[in-house]
Amino acid sequence: MSNIFVRIRTGSVGAAVLVFSMLAMSCGGSDSAPSPKPDRPSIVVTYSILGAVVVDVVGDAADVTVLMPNGSDPHEWQPSAKDIETLHQADLVVTNGLGLEAGLADVLSQVADDNVAIFVATDHITPRRVGEGEGADPTDEDLAIGAKDPHLWTDPTVMADVVKALGEKLSSINIEVSERAAKVAEDLMTLDNDIKESMDSLDLEQRLLITGHESLGYFARRYEFTLIGAIIPNLSSQSEASAADMNSLVEKIKTNQVRVIFTELGTSGDVADSLATDTGVKVVEVSTHVLPDDGSYATFITNLASTIVSAFES
Ligand SMILES: [Zn+2]
Repeated sequence: MSNIFVRIRTGSVGAAVLVFSMLAMSCGGSDSAPSPKPDRPSIVVTYSILGAVVVDVVGDAADVTVLMPNGSDPHEWQPSAKDIETLHQADLVVTNGLGLEAGLADVLSQVADDNVAIFVATDHITPRRVGEGEGADPTDEDLAIGAKDPHLWTDPTVMADVVKALGEKLSSINIEVSERAAKVAEDLMTLDNDIKESMDSLDLEQRLLITGHESLGYFARRYEFTLIGAIIPNLSSQSEASAADMNSLVEKIKTNQVRVIFTELGTSGDVADSLATDTGVKVVEVSTHVLPDDGSYATFITNLASTIVSAFES
């Protein structure tokens, strides 16, 4: 019953907004036919965590649509025909880049050919590169030392660089959000400071990370953790670990006296359990690719840091 009531109310509000828009257009004095496009520019963001920050920057200045449903794996997500149409109709498409949206690569290149403006977040940062001893396989081109890491959102200061560049891009297409962008970037630097302080209780020797795939490189670089290895030794969750990879990881866990294995979206629970059995190390799930229920980046990054700190403290 209450659902029906909400639907009716929503419909009424929608109708009121439409009437108001039409009045506003007629007051503007234009004699031309109303444009089929909505009044506000349309920004389409590929990925949920990036989308949350874009919403913070844009406010009411544009309509923001996030393509991938929160909780889907950005490394494997595939667009529908409707999603492809939404991308082609956007005034601006915001993507992460560096191969994160692997299932969208061909579509994004078609959208660019269609002269839709595209903002690639990783074009505006100094990308982290896969380093020595991170479990990368030097015989595989995709895993080579030096490969660029797409997981920029695990460092709020890198996200602040993206926000500043996005503010400039939006101004260049007459979406004026420079004050909001400056405020969001400032808030991200405050968050970074809070996270740094929350790490004070952890000695540097404790700060060792084993993750589901190579997802926490930016976080590790910022907060002085050492990446010991990953269950899937790849920048994408869509790769697979070989028996040799697993044996090597068990050795690394024992040699480095690692205390926690962090699993995430795309990590096999069976593999994590068997690692825990072989090494006696506890397994803790951490959210690295999914927004919390409140849809907030600030909550996301705070939860990520506090889950990691708590795992080492307990
Ligand atoms: Zn990932």
